[in-house]
Amino acid sequence: MLKVDGITVCYGKIPAVRNVSLEVEEGELVTLIGANGAGKTTTLRAISGMLPLATGSITFRGQPIGNSSARNVLAMGIAHCPEGRRVFPQLTVRENLEMGAYLRKDRDGIARDLERIYDKFPRLKERLHQAAGTLSGGEQQMLAIARALMSRPKMVLFDEPSLGLAPNLVERTFEIVLEIRREGTTVLMVEQNALAALELCDRSYLLETGQVVEHGTGSAMLENPHIQKAYLGG
Ligand code: ATP
Repeated sequence: MLKVDGITVCYGKIPAVRNVSLEVEEGELVTLIGANGAGKTTTLRAISGMLPLATGSITFRGQPIGNSSARNVLAMGIAHCPEGRRVFPQLTVRENLEMGAYLRKDRDGIARDLERIYDKFPRLKERLHQAAGTLSGGEQQMLAIARALMSRPKMVLFDEPSLGLAPNLVERTFEIVLEIRREGTTVLMVEQNALAALELCDRSYLLETGQVVEHGTGSAMLENPHIQKAYLGG
């Protein structure tokens, strides 16, 4: 479904991601793991059209998307749920959700999806008219996920959705990611907690200093001695 082929992405002249290739099949939950600064966020931002490619190509459902605008990538069905939540703080919860659907014209479909979101995230329903900036961290994370779903994506890119959340909310966030996948949406997720990322996923890629150094099924990666030593506490 998504094919990233040998991409290099630079900030100025300095490459943050070098010759990275990865694939995500329809219906899969794939994770990207690696230490701080390994290039995980940069890879997601290149996929969603926020950063240009210095080399390589990206295709989604057979169509080239490398170097497309973020708007085009969203229109093709990839929603990005960024690190640090990034909700619109001055807008209400409801307005944030509507922003997620800004490319859609099907008013009835949007209304139905809002109802579905309220079922899935009852806390958001209780706070529809509250400014998003006044929500708790966990609530903002739920809103960021819900907003991404409002575009009715075929694939969601999650960037560390559990970052900074209390343990019970981390678990809830992972449950929601699994639910989204069960409902048929393909997921590519950056996650720094390697154990959680490998237990949840179908397959995973490990990035080190901007390059893919290991990839495989979650269970194979859990058994990998290098990963055990460096990322799973031995
Ligand atoms: P983290 O888990 O800490 O978010 P990451 O794996 O997502 O790490 P990236 O954010 O992709 O890593 O960063 C990869 C490299 O690119 C790092 O060396 C980082 O310092 C550099 N980098 C990231 N953003 C910028 C930027 N806007 N300008 C310059 N360098 C950047």
